[in-house]
Amino acid sequence: MEIYPLLLKIVGSLWELAAIILVGLVLEQYIPAEPDQPFRISLFKIRILVVFTVIGVFLGNEIALLIGRVAAKLGGDGTGLGFGVDLQPRVARIVAGLMIFDFFYYWYHRLQHQSSLFWQQHKLHHADPALNVTSATFHHWLEGPLRTIFISIPMTFVVKLSPEDLAIIGVVLTLWAGLKHANVRVPLGLLTPIVVGPQLHRLHHSIEPQHRDRNFAAFFPIYDVVFGSYCGPQPSEWPATGLPNGEWPKSVAEANLWPFVAWWGRIAARRAPADYQQASEIGRIQVRSDPSRSDSSR
Ligand SMILES: [Zn+2]
Ligand SMILES: [Zn+2]
Repeated sequence: MEIYPLLLKIVGSLWELAAIILVGLVLEQYIPAEPDQPFRISLFKIRILVVFTVIGVFLGNEIALLIGRVAAKLGGDGTGLGFGVDLQPRVARIVAGLMIFDFFYYWYHRLQHQSSLFWQQHKLHHADPALNVTSATFHHWLEGPLRTIFISIPMTFVVKLSPEDLAIIGVVLTLWAGLKHANVRVPLGLLTPIVVGPQLHRLHHSIEPQHRDRNFAAFFPIYDVVFGSYCGPQPSEWPATGLPNGEWPKSVAEANLWPFVAWWGRIAARRAPADYQQASEIGRIQVRSDPSRSDSSR
């Protein structure tokens, strides 16, 4: 592993994160959807994000090297599997790339909500009680590798994207994530079912039960419309966000360990079903249900 290129990537990613957060936090002061958000929550998220970014860049680098090696063996171009359709010009590839990204993202994101296994990894993003620009990349660091498996690799089988195309899509994705999570009271009006904005995505993070498991798309709500998960906002609807039980990590270390602790709890419950069942029956512990989600579908 070459350490200097990796350090440069880490510094670049941290700088990009700082720039987006700084600009976003300033803009959010003018027309906040949720006024008086406690700044200490945003500061706590920033501390977590710095750690997650360093881990994410390191993991991303290793995964990219691995994919390059596998692609070379399979006859790809070494920069990705690269077996998809070669669209021209670049703008057509970028637009197609965004549409295809969102198709795979929609189903991956839906899986994160509907599978209790995947929900434990996604839960941190939804635990955020102060939705704003710092929430945009506030995902557990496992998100990057999972997106590579469920989105990036399948994409390369549909359309052939160069490293530059992927970089452009990555920039659009990052900027759009900042916009749709921003704490700004900017309704998109007639554009609401056409592009994902801050109001539609706030409903996805809503604490209200009628908004649960709705609006999964990253860019194009048409996928939610077609697959039956669209929930349009009322004109003045800007609900509170977070988990219904108010669960929130108390430290950076706890945020890192959250999914692993939950998964271990499930394994432990399976390994000692009799003990847990007995304890559950007398009301001391809860075995199968996740108190952060009250519906029985997961
Ligand atoms: Zn979600
Ligand atoms: Zn979100």
